[in-house]
Amino acid sequence: MKIHNFSAGPCILPQEVFTKTAEAVLNFNNSGLSILEISHRSKDFVAVMEEARDLALELLNLKGKGYQALFLQGGASMEFLRIPYNFLKQNGKAAYLDTGTWANNAIKEAKAFGETLVIASSKEANYSFIPKDYSIPTDVDYFHCTSNNTIYGTQIKEFKSSSVPLICDMSSDIFSRTLDFSKFDVIYAGAQKNMGPAGVTLVVIKEELLGKTNRAIPNILNYQVHIAKESMYNTPAVSAIYTSLLTLQWLKKLGGVQAIESKNQAKADLLYQEIDRNPLFKGTAAVEDRSNMNATFLLQNDAAHKEQFDALWKAAGISGINGHRSVGGYRASMYNALPIESVQVLVDVMKELEKKLK
Ligand code: PMP
Repeated sequence: MKIHNFSAGPCILPQEVFTKTAEAVLNFNNSGLSILEISHRSKDFVAVMEEARDLALELLNLKGKGYQALFLQGGASMEFLRIPYNFLKQNGKAAYLDTGTWANNAIKEAKAFGETLVIASSKEANYSFIPKDYSIPTDVDYFHCTSNNTIYGTQIKEFKSSSVPLICDMSSDIFSRTLDFSKFDVIYAGAQKNMGPAGVTLVVIKEELLGKTNRAIPNILNYQVHIAKESMYNTPAVSAIYTSLLTLQWLKKLGGVQAIESKNQAKADLLYQEIDRNPLFKGTAAVEDRSNMNATFLLQNDAAHKEQFDALWKAAGISGINGHRSVGGYRASMYNALPIESVQVLVDVMKELEKKLK
């Protein structure tokens, strides 16, 4: 049976990426060697790294604009730490927007370094909306936000402009929609949603901002070191980067971020229309802030209908729609590689539940 994978990450990737990865595990580039055994210094892998760094910038429309792309390890969580190390000056201040668990984790790491201002938060409302009524202080070293809140199903639609560097965790919506990416000074994203398998993080940095903290930075945490070593300061996640490259190539072939954006919009519209129409369900995020990647919703009457709904979606081959363990309910993650047919299957199951209960 076909499985419809709505998992929040690691998640579905394009079928052709799975096939090409499988081929490379057996014989990479006709070298007779597996992608799992080749040296990261081999000519073939150096070419993979170069193309992946280049293509990431190309798809974000940042090529030739003073940015560097790195493929690092430690997950997006490591960047929560690397960001203040590289950008928060001694005796400086940073401003953060608190929109969910991951934003909060980033704040905790920054607090260990210096003055960290939380300039707005929706924590009191269980992170069900994106705060908008705030201004970014002009005397901070940077402003940090999270573009898409994977757990709560909210997404920033408008990014405020300011005179301070803008740093954004785009882990769960990178390459999913068009934005003026040149507004951002640092963009980072764990690969395991729209870019590839777990094990690698894309970090895109406007190079001119580096080297200004007068802080001693350990090499492994120092973006300048990673740039100087062309993202090979230490052994990179070879196979994860290769699969990420295949996914980026797939996206380019499809027409890039603009092309996938309209597909993602169609998927989100289809599901949210059903959540709003069907009297058995309700969405949990403020309508204007709803994420096109992660739709969070509840059964109006969990006790009465959960067992039946769960049995129906499982029978339809749906996987991975339980909400995050910290919030419960349901969460349908509709990343780039999820076909609209899978969303239609979920919508049909929601309609079927309604019919059965009539
Ligand atoms: N930021 C966001 C928005 C996320 O969704 C996640 C993980 N799902 C993280 C950060 C943490 O990423 P990692 O597990 O790669 O450290």
